Amino acid sequence: MTTVLTGETFESFNPATGETVGAYPVHTAEQVESAVAKAREAAAWWDSLGFAGRAERLATWRAALANRMPELVEVISEETGKPAGDAQLELVLAIEHLAWAGKHARKVLGPQRRAPGLLLANQAASVEHQPLGVVGVIGPWNYPVYTPLGSISYALAAGNAVVFKPSEFTPGVGKWLADSFAEAVPEHPVLQLVTGLGETGAALTKAGADKIAFTGSAATGKKVMASAAETLTPVVIEAGGKDPLLVDADADLDAAADATVWGAFSNAGQTCAGVERVYVHERVHDEFVAKVVAKAEDIDAGEQYGPMTMPSQLDIVRRHIEDALAAGGKAVVGGADAVGDRYVKPTVLVDVPEDCSAVREETFGPTVTIAKVATMDEAVEKANDSVYGLGSTVFSKSRGMELARRLRTGQTAINAPLSFAGIASLPFGGSGDSGFGRIHGPEGLREFARPKAIARQRFTAPIALTSFARSKKTEALVGKLIAKLHGKG
Ligand code: NDP
Repeated sequence: MTTVLTGETFESFNPATGETVGAYPVHTAEQVESAVAKAREAAAWWDSLGFAGRAERLATWRAALANRMPELVEVISEETGKPAGDAQLELVLAIEHLAWAGKHARKVLGPQRRAPGLLLANQAASVEHQPLGVVGVIGPWNYPVYTPLGSISYALAAGNAVVFKPSEFTPGVGKWLADSFAEAVPEHPVLQLVTGLGETGAALTKAGADKIAFTGSAATGKKVMASAAETLTPVVIEAGGKDPLLVDADADLDAAADATVWGAFSNAGQTCAGVERVYVHERVHDEFVAKVVAKAEDIDAGEQYGPMTMPSQLDIVRRHIEDALAAGGKAVVGGADAVGDRYVKPTVLVDVPEDCSAVREETFGPTVTIAKVATMDEAVEKANDSVYGLGSTVFSKSRGMELARRLRTGQTAINAPLSFAGIASLPFGGSGDSGFGRIHGPEGLREFARPKAIARQRFTAPIALTSFARSKKTEALVGKLIAKLHGKG
């Protein structure tokens, strides 16, 4: 069950059954370049609609997504194997983001006045955010709607045309999105789809787009950035994570255990900001572990989450569990045998040394490590000791905000799992191997726009500074003025 190339096409599979579900073209570099060229023309038209015209059309698309949810849920489930309820959840969140982006683009990106300062008080200063032109979006398979739409919705709302390359595991979802958009906006190809394997993605990074929005692994992110560097094309990289969850001594342990099992095991652990490591205060460690074990034992792989979408991931999950056990860790739920041919049962590991792959590398499977800490300072230190910096979660009644601020991650949820991902007004992104740049919220809109500064002279200044007509007297006056204004320190 790997991607099969058949001449000019490739096939996608249902990872739960191994059945072929569709065949899609492998677009060549020339075809990708032609899509970007067409997108450039479409971008000019899309820009000319203004914020109101775009918001109206994005609302039409949003309505189609909302009204046809069951259809798209089926396509998502078929290509990823995830249960319908989870497929619907990612779609619901994606629709919320699309609504927010369309509604707030004008306020965030439209013209804003700025103070010109005393020396240039005769000027009217303003800044507005103009579209970049064409944005190339490269997406992963784990949330094939929510994740690419995190870039696509904001790029479109900011006035750009988009060329979208979905993962080779979820081309059908990509096609459904592009087709439904074309029905809502039939005039020009504002959102185009290119399909294929990694080479098609690589071609997109060189095809003349004005920005590449990449979501995927850190390893591929580095290739994307290197390739885009050849043409100085800017990139936003949303890569993986090794997200920690902290449990303080005063935490609601039932809620923390519930968040741990859901954060670690939902979507078979294939969530970039899923919980992978837990650090628990020693006073509540044993009680917390017992609660996690009880909840994890109740989870039915295959019922409550789906198979590993990408078969090669099974080996990585097995290796991480085996490394942890070989280094002295204990599996209190699951273990190496939990890794089957398609499904992985929940696995909870304790006493795992911090230098193990299960603690340091992104596992991207339904496993979690739980470690005991003497203080929350130690928890913060261990949580921050990672090459990744994507998301984090804190359970604490008294110190939630303080601990959240100290975690070196792009976003932190307090007393609930992954809440930041559903709040459209909040930016999302990482640092280190988790990438850089932001999608979602005002920051996500600005990521796909170019600030344009305009200074308009309202009247001739009594003191001409930027003219050869400037006199010695003027220079002396300005010198005195600045010394008076700023000289006091
Ligand atoms: P990959 O990095 O394997 O692939 C991501 C995308 O890049 C796919 O469309 C892939 O195409 C394409 N691609 C592959 N090679 C190249 C190349 N040389 N140049 C350009 N594009 C290329 O990631 P996965 O699809 O396996 O996704 C899982 C990863 O995504 C995890 O690390 C996860 O944490 C991360 N992720 C991050 C999120 C975030 O917002 N920070 C959200 C969701 C996931 P193809 O599939 O055809 O090979």
